[in-house]
Amino acid sequence: MQFANRIKNLGTESAFEVSHQAAMWHAEGNEIFPFHLGDLNIPTPRNIVDAMNEAIKNGKTGYCPPAGIPELRAVLADDVGRRRGVSYSSDNVVIQPGGKPVIGKFILALTNPGDEVLYPTPGYPIYESQIEFHGGIAVPYIYKEIDGCFLLDLDEVKSKITRRTRFFIYNNHQNPTGAESTQEEMEALAEIALEHNLWILADEAYYEIRYGGVSRSIVSIPGMLERTVILYTFSKKFAMTGWRIGAAIGPQKVAETISELNVNDESCTNHFIQWAMIEALTGPQEGPRRIISILKERRDTATTLLQNIEGVNLSVPNTTFYLYPNITEVVKQKNFDNIAEFQTEALKKTGVAFCTRNHFGRPIPGETDYYIRFAYSGIDTQDIRKGLSRLKDFFDN
Ligand code: PLP
Repeated sequence: MQFANRIKNLGTESAFEVSHQAAMWHAEGNEIFPFHLGDLNIPTPRNIVDAMNEAIKNGKTGYCPPAGIPELRAVLADDVGRRRGVSYSSDNVVIQPGGKPVIGKFILALTNPGDEVLYPTPGYPIYESQIEFHGGIAVPYIYKEIDGCFLLDLDEVKSKITRRTRFFIYNNHQNPTGAESTQEEMEALAEIALEHNLWILADEAYYEIRYGGVSRSIVSIPGMLERTVILYTFSKKFAMTGWRIGAAIGPQKVAETISELNVNDESCTNHFIQWAMIEALTGPQEGPRRIISILKERRDTATTLLQNIEGVNLSVPNTTFYLYPNITEVVKQKNFDNIAEFQTEALKKTGVAFCTRNHFGRPIPGETDYYIRFAYSGIDTQDIRKGLSRLKDFFDN
C-alpha cells in the first residue's frame, strides 16, 4: 500500500512514547512515578459535569453550528477579551474540539506550500509536525537560559525572517520551559510582526495556569489584535483534557475560514459539552481555584526537592505545570552522552518517567546542555516526594 507523500512529514507528540515505555515497565510489576505527560489526575469540577449531564437530559445531542453555539461564543469572547484587556465579539470565536486543532487549522488557513513559519524550540512538538505536514517550512527560533530565565534571542528571530515568512507561533507561558516574556520582550516581538507583516498564532494554553503575578497576552499590544489568533483551551484550567474542547479566537475573517474547515472536518464540536462550558465560564469558580492550589502545592514540593539535588539547575516558573531543569552535570558525571539512554536508565532504576529536551522538537545543532521536563499535573504530592527522592539517590550515586 502506498501512502501519500505528506504522511512522511507528519511528526508526533513523542511524550506519548514515554507513556508507552512507562506502561510497559509498569506491566512488568514496577512502580511508576508519572512526570512525563501534561495531563491532570484532578477531577473536572462537579458543577461542570452536572451541567453536561443536564444538557444531555435537555436533548442537546444533535449537531450544532460549525463555529459553536452562539451562547458559548458570546460568553467566551467576553471572558477572553476581559482577561486580556481587549474587546472580542462572538464573530471572533470559533469553537474547536480542543486547543490542538487550532494549530493545524490556522496553518491550513494562512499558509501555502513553501511558506516559512517560525516556531519555538524547545516547544510543543505539534508545531513542527503540522507546519511540515501542510508543506510549510518549519523555521525554529530558540529559547536561551540566561541567569535562570528562559529568554528569546530577538536578533536570532529577526535573522530568520525572509520574504517567505508568513507567521510565527508564540507560546508565552511556554511548554516545556515555563518561559514567560517580559513586557519588553513581548513588545519587541510585536514590533517584528508589524515590521514584517506577520501573523501570530498565540498559543495561550497555559494563560490561566499561574501561581503569582498576572498573565499578559500579545493581543493587548496595539496592532496585534488584527493579526493574532489565540489558541484557547478549556483542557488545563478546568482539568478536562479528555473532554476535548477549545477555541480559535481572532479576526472575524480567519474565524470564518476556520469555521469552514470545521464544516469539512468534524462538522461541529460536541454539542452538550459546549453548554457545560457556559457553566464553566460563568458558574462558581471554586473548581479552577482548587485546581491551581493543588498544582501550586505540587510545584513547591517538586522544586524544593529538585533544587536539593546536586547538579540539577532549575529556574522556577510562575506558570504552566512544568519544570525544565538543566541536568548536564549529572548526565556527564554518570558518563552518559545520550539523554535518551539516560532517561531510560532513570526509568528502570527509579520508576520516574519524564520527558527530555528531545521530545520538544528537533534539537538545534550545537546544543550542548541536557534538559529534562517534569510535568507535575498528573502525580500527587506524596508520589512527587517518593519519586524525586528515588531520583536523587540515582543522580547522587
Ligand atoms: N498547546 C500547548 C503548548 C500544549 O502544551 C497543549 C497540550 O498539552 C496544547 C496546546 C493542546 O491542548 P488541548 O488540545 O488539550 O487543548
